[in-house]
Amino acid sequence: MSDLVSALRRVVPEMCLVSPSTPEYEQARLIYNRMHDIRPAALVRSLDPSVLHSATKTATSLGVPIAVRSGGHHIGGFSTVEDGLVLDFSPFRNVVFDPESGLVQVRPGARLGDLDTVLAAHGRCVPTGTVSDTGITGLTLGGGIGWLVAGYGLTCDHLHSAEVLLADGRVVEVSRQAHADLFTALRGGGVGAFGVVLKLCFHTVPLPRIKAGSVRYPLSDATRVLGALQKLLAEDTPETVTLAPVLDFRGSTPGLSVDVCCHSDDERDLDRIRTMLGGDWSDVYDRHYPQWQSILDRSFQPPMRGYWKSVHFDRLDIDPELLAEAIRGAPDNRCSILVEYYNVETLRAHAEGSAFPLRDSRMGVLFSARWPDPAHDDVHMHWARKWSMRIGGGAGAYSNYSQDTEHQVRSSFAPETLASFRALEAAYDPDRLFAKGHRAALGDSATVDRG
Ligand SMILES: Cc1cc2nc3c(=O)[nH]c(=O)nc-3n(C[C@H](O)[C@H](O)[C@H](O)COP(=O)(O)OP(=O)(O)OC[C@H]3O[C@@H](n4cnc5c(N)ncnc54)[C@H](O)[C@@H]3O)c2cc1C
Repeated sequence: MSDLVSALRRVVPEMCLVSPSTPEYEQARLIYNRMHDIRPAALVRSLDPSVLHSATKTATSLGVPIAVRSGGHHIGGFSTVEDGLVLDFSPFRNVVFDPESGLVQVRPGARLGDLDTVLAAHGRCVPTGTVSDTGITGLTLGGGIGWLVAGYGLTCDHLHSAEVLLADGRVVEVSRQAHADLFTALRGGGVGAFGVVLKLCFHTVPLPRIKAGSVRYPLSDATRVLGALQKLLAEDTPETVTLAPVLDFRGSTPGLSVDVCCHSDDERDLDRIRTMLGGDWSDVYDRHYPQWQSILDRSFQPPMRGYWKSVHFDRLDIDPELLAEAIRGAPDNRCSILVEYYNVETLRAHAEGSAFPLRDSRMGVLFSARWPDPAHDDVHMHWARKWSMRIGGGAGAYSNYSQDTEHQVRSSFAPETLASFRALEAAYDPDRLFAKGHRAALGDSATVDRG
C-alpha cells in the first residue's frame, strides 16, 4: 500500500476511497482517451468539502500531485495523474431544475445527456456540446460549443454561478456578484477553476424547435461545397443555423457531411444554404432535441486512443482543397476533420465577464485521430500535427479540443487575460495544487508543446 493510501485512510471515509487494492480501481482509473493509461495512487470520490480538503492536504504534505476529474473526457488526459491523487467527481451526476427561477443546479460529474434528459421534460435546455457522455464541468470551464452555438452562444455563456472549494479549504459561491474575477475565468477560460468546482448553476432557455440532419457529399464535391459555404458565411453568418461540416469516412470512402441544426422557426437561412449547396437534404427534418444531442455518440464509442489538434481562424478563407487532401491522407478510417463556423456577433454578445478567448473566431478546424493500437500512435499524431500546421490558423486554439500545454492555446489569450490568470493563481491557488492542464502552461514557457 502506498504512503498516500495509508495516510488517506486516516482522513477519508473508506467508501470514498478507491485504491489499487479496491475492486473498482481498474475501471475507475480509466479516462476517455486511452492514450493516458495512467495508474493514480488513489481516487477520492466525495462532495464533502472537509473530506476533499483533508485529502488534498494529505497529498500535498507527501508531495503527491493532484488531478481533478468530472466527465473524464478531456483529450489531453488532464483529469488523471500517475501515482497521484485524483479527486473524482464522475459518480456525482445529479441535476435539479427549479421551474420557478428557470435555473438548473448540476453536480460536477453530470454528463451533457443528464442535463438534456432532465431539462427536456420541462421544455427547457442549456446549450451544450454534441456528444452526450461529455462532462458538463470541463466543457463549461473551456467554453462549450454545440448545436445551438450560432444563436445561443457557448455553454459558459449560460453559467449563473458555481460553488468552488478553494485550496485553503474555503467553499465560495462564485458569480457576477461574488468573486467575479474567478467567475470570469470559469466562464470559458480553459485553464481550470483555480479550485475545485462542487456545483454549477445554469440559466436555462426554452427548448427550441430544431430541424437538423446531415447532408453527405462525395469528396470530389468537398472543395465546391466548403468554398460555397465560406463565401456565403463571409457575406452573412446566420444566427439561426449551426453548421458543422465533417470530412470523414463512411466505410472506407472519405467524403464530406455537412451537419446542420436550424434552431429557429424562421427557416429562411436554412433554405438559402440548402439552395446554395444542393445535394440530398432528406435527412434534415424536425428532430427531438435530446435525441439529436446524442446523434454523434456512436462515432465516439468505444473509447480509444485519441489525438486532437485545434486551429482557429478569424477569417473565412482557408483552402478547402487542403482539407480534402488531409482526409485522403488520413492513416485510418476513424480519423475526421471537423469544421465549425461561428457567428461572431453571438459570441461577442456574451463577452463581458468571460475569459473565453476566441470570440472573434469565425471558424475552427479540429483534426481528430482515433485508433486502438499503441503501435500506431506516431502515425496518427503526426497526421494531426502535420495538417494543423499546414492549414495555418493564427487566431489560437480551443482549449477543450487541445492536447497538453499547447502554445496555440496560450497564444489565444490577450496579455491582460494571462495577467489576470496569474493574479487569480496568486489569490486562490498560490501553491498551484490544481494547476494541471492548460494552466500548467501559463506559468512555465519551458513546458510548451510546439508540436
Ligand atoms: C467524444 C468527445 C466529444 C466532445 N464534444 C465536444 C463538443 O461538442 N463541444 C465542446 O465544446 N467540447 C467537446 N469536447 C471536449 C470537451 O469539452 C472537453 O473534453 C471537456 O474538458 C470535457 O469535460 P469533462 O468534465 O468530461 O472533462 P475532464 O477530463 O474531467 O476535465 C477537463 C478539465 O477540467 C478540469 N476539471 C474537471 N472537473 C473539475 C472540477 N470539478 N473542478 C475543477 N476543475 C475541473 C480537469 O482538471 C481538466 O483539466 C468533446 C470531447 C470528447 C472526448
